[in-house]
Amino acid sequence: MMSIEDWRKAGKIAGEVREWSRDFVKPGAKVVDVANKIEAKIRSMDGELAFPVNISFNQVAAHDTANFDDSRVLKDELVKVDVGVHVNGCIGDTALTVDLSGKYQKLIQSAEEALNDAIEQVRKEPKLGLIGKRIEDKILSFGFQPVRNLSGHGITVFEVHDEPSIPNYDTKSSKLIPKGTFFAIEPFATTGIGKITEKGEGIIFSIVADKNVRDLISRKVLAHIKTKYSTLPFSKRELFLSFKPFEAEFALKQLQQQGILHSYPPLVEVSDGFVSQAEHTLYLGDEVEVLTKY
Ligand code: MN
Ligand code: MN
Repeated sequence: MMSIEDWRKAGKIAGEVREWSRDFVKPGAKVVDVANKIEAKIRSMDGELAFPVNISFNQVAAHDTANFDDSRVLKDELVKVDVGVHVNGCIGDTALTVDLSGKYQKLIQSAEEALNDAIEQVRKEPKLGLIGKRIEDKILSFGFQPVRNLSGHGITVFEVHDEPSIPNYDTKSSKLIPKGTFFAIEPFATTGIGKITEKGEGIIFSIVADKNVRDLISRKVLAHIKTKYSTLPFSKRELFLSFKPFEAEFALKQLQQQGILHSYPPLVEVSDGFVSQAEHTLYLGDEVEVLTKY
């Protein structure tokens, strides 16, 4: 049985790991080490991954992570670290942005302040259009654009993205977030026009359909994915720890072709703008709780 305590625990782990990552998201660090360290820490605190840690650079807003053979080393990037933890399916989803270039402090500040304003609006009146307006107004006041086709989201047990969608701009919606909702607010601010698109090959996947698989290798890999992740997203990097490279590669291809797996390509700003992100998971009960606060 899920309980509010599981949500609080997942949120606490996610918030702690998010802040802890600041110590080693530094120039010279290997991206794959950063990813493995964060994911190991989550598990050492008795959390499970709600999704692979997203580590996305510069114009990439989200959905990148370290690959199994990743040779990238942090240098002067604008780095978004997005952490997802679950405890019995109850999820904490939170993100920060670290500027290793020394050029994007304001961009980070705009997303962080937009998130604070949005939380303040939830406390006052959790009206979707107004939450989006607070985010948009704050980011525009810095001279940046909010990413309008990315949004916050409701969270339910084993579902990272559920209703309602929580806009990053003024949609004029008068709908209220219902009491009893768990949800993430995640403003993205950009130096570009404020629109992202999928670009390149995804290295994050999840099961989206259940079908029979004929070949032995794919069947074996699918059984592993089901047991370890259920329908939550997982990374190619971790899959390669459990299978021979040719098996993992073959199964990923087969399972995607059969519509069983979906891949999530990196989300890139269309005008090449740099992107910052801030995110917290909240609970709207009798009071508003920020679950991923450190
Ligand atoms: Mn997130
Ligand atoms: Mn989220």
